[in-house]
Amino acid sequence: MRGLRRPATVDSVTEHYDVIIVGTGAGGGTLAHTLAPSGRRILLLERGDFLPREKQNWDPGPVFVDGRYISKDTWYDADGKPFQPQVHYFVGGATKMYGAALYRLRPEDFGEVKHADGISPAWPLSYDDFEPWYTRAEWLYQVHGIHGEDPTEGPWSKQYPWPAVSHEPRMQQVSDALTAAGYHPFHAPCGILLDEANRPASTCIRCRTCDGYPCLVHAKSDAEVIAVRPVLGRDNVTLLVNAEAVRLQTSPDGRSVTSVVVSRDGEYEVYSADIVALCAGAANSARILLNSASDAHPRGLANGSDQVGRNYMFHNSKAVVALGKEPNDTVFQKTLGLNDFYLPGNGRPWPLGNIQMVGKSNAEAMKGEEPKLTKLAPHWSLDDVASHAVDFWLTTEDVPKPDNRVTVDRDGNVHLAYQPTNDEEAGHLYEELKKILNHTGMARHHVLRKNFYMNMNIPVAGCAHQAGTCRFGTDPATSVLDPDGKAHELDNLYVVDTSFMPSIGAVNPALTAMANAIRVGEHLLGRLTG
Ligand SMILES: Cc1cc2nc3c(=O)[nH]c(=O)nc-3n(C[C@H](O)[C@H](O)[C@H](O)COP(=O)(O)OP(=O)(O)OC[C@H]3O[C@@H](n4cnc5c(N)ncnc54)[C@H](O)[C@@H]3O)c2cc1C
Repeated sequence: MRGLRRPATVDSVTEHYDVIIVGTGAGGGTLAHTLAPSGRRILLLERGDFLPREKQNWDPGPVFVDGRYISKDTWYDADGKPFQPQVHYFVGGATKMYGAALYRLRPEDFGEVKHADGISPAWPLSYDDFEPWYTRAEWLYQVHGIHGEDPTEGPWSKQYPWPAVSHEPRMQQVSDALTAAGYHPFHAPCGILLDEANRPASTCIRCRTCDGYPCLVHAKSDAEVIAVRPVLGRDNVTLLVNAEAVRLQTSPDGRSVTSVVVSRDGEYEVYSADIVALCAGAANSARILLNSASDAHPRGLANGSDQVGRNYMFHNSKAVVALGKEPNDTVFQKTLGLNDFYLPGNGRPWPLGNIQMVGKSNAEAMKGEEPKLTKLAPHWSLDDVASHAVDFWLTTEDVPKPDNRVTVDRDGNVHLAYQPTNDEEAGHLYEELKKILNHTGMARHHVLRKNFYMNMNIPVAGCAHQAGTCRFGTDPATSVLDPDGKAHELDNLYVVDTSFMPSIGAVNPALTAMANAIRVGEHLLGRLTG
């Protein structure tokens, strides 16, 4: 839409639906899956197309070096400098590329948490309120794991549907060394279609840990495979691809959304619905609302409080590659997590965050870091380095700040102003990892540039874990959505992606988006049949 002016009001409606869902990722895809059995007429609008299944899906060159699956979108930073955001416009959204580490937030994340750089606010719902939805999401997305292993996790009503993905030998060594040193490693929850007990029935071939790669054999539990494809055969569900929602139109009094203006094949089309759910991702849902300003909503739709687009968060993360003497021939590396520093305690006033494994690095993707990496082991080639590398991913919570925000210019383009938070906590987490590496014989290590895996030139582009631009709450002055996910100011507008999160915690956000989509979906089913 760069350079294409926002359309003025468009009148002629192409077709009417009971529900329109904009976006087919973790939020939108899961919402469609929840609503489809109702028989209500549902229109799914997806800006992208189906991600092609091709040999490049698993090739680090095209994926990480060329950025083959990253959108060509241009966004602008706080200084107006253009950048290419790491966003993925496909059926399934960002989950086509995600690592499928499907964590629940910890109970403490639902309350107020004090951080070095401010307060992470309390949610209007508690962990106990969310627990049943987490369980439903874990079963829908076929999560593998072991509830009860991680001492920081909250109560759970049902074990994971699948046993944890077993550690490969090198990861088992790391896990054993951590346990021997007094830490509490656990099997990371993984959303993959793998049946280790009965391999012939499995589709997952444990290739590159899912992380950052689309799955050629459709064995990753992404939103396309798990949620969207299974409902496409239904008469009541219609999916339009390459259909970008550009603006929502309201009734004259501004109380209800009446229709969605869609850009498709260079033309504008208009679809009306009784209920509209925006699930375009945290930045794009805010963009659509801000681009829908009208006389009734001069600051943008649902934005009387001036909260839309604010409180953008995306985690304070670091990738660390550590070298041991033993080769690491692990293929599926993302099986281990560590939350020993997740909560304050042991003399630490702040929570520090989560440590997990990231997808196994390889020489091709490491080329940009070559001098530093080969300096760690002067007699080794980059191939040697890659074959001994053990790759960690450190995540510290990013606290919501009103000035970290999405705005739009007069042409409707996204501007993203962002300053990272909690660098001090992130630094302490790294210090803790260094101690761990000493304990486990991997003292030689290197912090990779944050954008190492993503072929990006500025950090703000690393928006994989974007959240928080339309947070839910009970007070319309400080939140955009009510606890049901409905816009305070409109009768029939819902936002059902990571935008709703008042805080992001320090674990990966997708399971929370999925659980919330099921929760809001059940609310909508009650509304549609009530
Ligand atoms: C490389 C990578 C690795 C990740 N790893 C993990 C992980 O291991 N675990 C985890 O929990 N999370 C992970 N994430 C993050 C996770 O994928 C996201 O948090 C999650 O997908 C967000 O869900 P969402 O519904 O908010 O947005 P998305 O899943 O991005 O869905 C938004 C959808 O809206 C569509 N859209 C956007 N604008 C419009 C428009 N105007 N009209 C129509 N459609 C539109 C998009 O094309 C997309 O399909 C990762 C992300 C990336 C990129």
